[in-house]
Amino acid sequence: MKAHSPAGQGPTGRAIQGLAVSRGVAIGRAVLVAAGRMEAVHRFVEPEQVQDELARLRGARDAVTLELQRLQAELPPDAPQELAALLEVHVLMLQDELLASGVRHWIIERLYNAEWALTTQLEVLSRQFDEMEDEYLRERKADLEQVVERMLRQLRGAAAPQPPAHAGEGTPLVLVAHDLGPADMLQFRRTPFVGFVTSAGGRTSHTAIVARSMDIPAVVGARAASQLVRQDDWIIVDGDAGLVIVDPAPEVLARYRDRQQQIAREREQLARLRHMPSVTRDGQAVELLANIEQPEDAAVAVRAGAVGVGLFRTEFLFMGRGGRLPDEEAQYRAYRAAVEGMQGLPLTIRTVDVGADKPLERGARDGTLNPALGLRAIRWSLAEPEMFRTQLRAILRAAAHGKVRMLFPMLAHLTEIRQAIAQVAQARAELDARGACHGPVQLGAMIEIPAAALMVRQFLAHFDFLSIGTNDLIQYALAIDRADEAVAELYDPLHPAVLRMVADVIAEGARAGKPVSVCGEMAGDPSLTRLLLGLGLRSFSMHPTQLQAVKREILQADAGLLVDWARQVLAADEPAACLALAPDGSAAAA
Ligand code: PEP
Ligand code: MG
Repeated sequence: MKAHSPAGQGPTGRAIQGLAVSRGVAIGRAVLVAAGRMEAVHRFVEPEQVQDELARLRGARDAVTLELQRLQAELPPDAPQELAALLEVHVLMLQDELLASGVRHWIIERLYNAEWALTTQLEVLSRQFDEMEDEYLRERKADLEQVVERMLRQLRGAAAPQPPAHAGEGTPLVLVAHDLGPADMLQFRRTPFVGFVTSAGGRTSHTAIVARSMDIPAVVGARAASQLVRQDDWIIVDGDAGLVIVDPAPEVLARYRDRQQQIAREREQLARLRHMPSVTRDGQAVELLANIEQPEDAAVAVRAGAVGVGLFRTEFLFMGRGGRLPDEEAQYRAYRAAVEGMQGLPLTIRTVDVGADKPLERGARDGTLNPALGLRAIRWSLAEPEMFRTQLRAILRAAAHGKVRMLFPMLAHLTEIRQAIAQVAQARAELDARGACHGPVQLGAMIEIPAAALMVRQFLAHFDFLSIGTNDLIQYALAIDRADEAVAELYDPLHPAVLRMVADVIAEGARAGKPVSVCGEMAGDPSLTRLLLGLGLRSFSMHPTQLQAVKREILQADAGLLVDWARQVLAADEPAACLALAPDGSAAAA
């Protein structure tokens, strides 16, 4: 994505750049959740009023707890799983002693009124959140703010934000706020909001998570939004580019309306492909798998038409837990839930991959110069064998309930391969020793370090299957930090060196008769589907939302015809230039 100025005035209207977190285009009138909502009356109370202030505080806390519990109880059965969990987090924060005792302190010792005490303690805790290494934890500051805001609303006797009553039937509305909490989002589910814009938040903020699961276009981190957007302004939310256009010129509006219609038509067409088998025109079956991050995503993947999960990134179960890792039982429950969600289809569980841009708080080491080259993924697992075997035992136990494959990230050395496999054997022996039930698993390796790609034959000798992690393979082959905006232009999946490695791994897998899939972002990019097919790939693993777009490419492709062309692309100095020249015409039909 190109960098835009944070806010620019041009013939198109005012454009505000944020982060694209949920795809699509929304056009509607802005509904602002009041800025300065944290403003509180600041006043000193008399010593004899302290008890009354404390009682007001307790009253507000109890009322908000009830409000949240009511929301929990009213959760519709199809509500995203995250919502229940997030509401629970808010209830827990309300009960948290650090918040409660801090606020009491300001009232009793400083004689602040309840509102002032609340915002003062919020500031104290906010600073602690800001200093946290872990991005996920840092973003929990927003939850605290939302909880405090609810309490302030109670103290003021005001109701939760609602869409304006004057909004006519059918008027599309876009919610613009500093930040939004899951409970607020929940209340907005049955309202006419067609898009969300927030000034705060990152890619893992709740607005982003919930908007994605609600499939509503959203832009977060659009810092200037709460100042530049006025109540009732027409705005466009471009969830693909992360752009918010305020008060658009008629021609811009027309262009976006066209795009909206085009997107709607495309979605309709794509949805029809869901139950179609994924086979090329010349009869080559292609396996389409899903990448998931949470156990409950397994069922979503199956509903989206995936024939299995090719990558379950388990590290998200390990993060944001204040350094306490999930024990064997908790992990077993999570993996078993995912296995059961698969309804008999295979689930590939990748062992924990923390480090680099996915730090675990206790693994986040100050002063690490190159985290992407440090103690990450399998290296961390092998350095902490107890932790590793806890995970392996949980996976092996879950494998008693369905088809499970185990995948190891970031292997580069034969010694690592031997150690990882030995740890699996030991974990199994530990389960046997205590008479615990476990099931068979196939073992696989991620090919995501150039060294692994170059010694793929040795990998194939030790593993049942391979999965190419192109996200990291590109990062390590080209020495481009995948999280660094400054070098993002150089991060090129079509670099000849990258393509050569991908091609070799696919070819060697075929020669050895062992399955090879691609589970990096390349697999979910429809513009690369034909190239990967031409290179012989028959297994793609991607985010479930991409499945139908990739399937469409497969249905239009003639795999036999693509082989020679793919060879030419591989030999070209500039493979990108050859991409549009695929021989079967599917590009034109797409
Ligand atoms: C990859 O590196 O391509 C991959 C799929 O793993 P992750 O994105 O989790 O590093
Ligand atoms: Mg990776």
